[in-house]
Amino acid sequence: MFCPQCGKEYAQQVNFCCQCGVAMVAPTRRRKQLMRSRTDEKIAGVCGGFAEYFDMDSTLMRLLWLALVLVGGWGLLAYIIAWIVMPEEPVAEAAPAATPSKAG
Ligand SMILES: [Zn+2]
Repeated sequence: MFCPQCGKEYAQQVNFCCQCGVAMVAPTRRRKQLMRSRTDEKIAGVCGGFAEYFDMDSTLMRLLWLALVLVGGWGLLAYIIAWIVMPEEPVAEAAPAATPSKAG
């Protein structure tokens, strides 16, 4: 663990920094970002990206979206907007940083 505020390092898992009291974040956990999926795409990866973001099944997300399209056409508009607005997932996922060695 590593305090983002004061830079104090902790050997064990702590939730708050003893020195400055800031909430600790696990270095491996990345903030979720709404992005078009490259690995799970049928048209533009919008549904796949949403499914990933909401931890949902991508098929269920597509069905929900399709229902929105059929109901009033808003789903189609929303899809096109999401297509334009959402960034695409990076091509190659960078390997997570290795745990810092104890030596040194
Ligand atoms: Zn701190």
